[in-house]
Amino acid sequence: TIGLLALGKAGEIAGACSTSGMAFKMHGRVGDSPIIGGAVFCDDEVGGACATGLGEFVMKTLGSFLIVEFMRQGMTPQQACEAAIMRIVKRYKYQEFQVGYLAINKKGDVGAYSIQKGFSYTITKNGKTQVIESASYM
Ligand code: ASP
Repeated sequence: TIGLLALGKAGEIAGACSTSGMAFKMHGRVGDSPIIGGAVFCDDEVGGACATGLGEFVMKTLGSFLIVEFMRQGMTPQQACEAAIMRIVKRYKYQEFQVGYLAINKKGDVGAYSIQKGFSYTITKNGKTQVIESASYM
């Protein structure tokens, strides 16, 4: 999944995602991308979050919604992404899959966390773009 989050000048939060779905997926499978709160969720009062990776685990925890709610309760975007990954890791012992989360709050603070290494994201701010590899559980 390719996720995108944006913070507007007036503090508006926007998000979008796009996916090809899983390789070799079952016919008719609906992934997390079209599920509101799954692969993307935004709330102008708080911030936004998006996800990539094995959609079943994102959907089972409604990960992007969960991250926005964690931020609403006071977590930073980084803490919220880590808490959402830990929700998956603690519950599902088999962890040889990837889920990565990215989040932004109204202040423009950004966080990212994934289960496996190799989840990178890009930040563009004031015309400058940086590629960053997220911290990971493994
Ligand atoms: N999240 C997608 C799915 O499970 C896969 C991806 O593109 O990351 O359908």
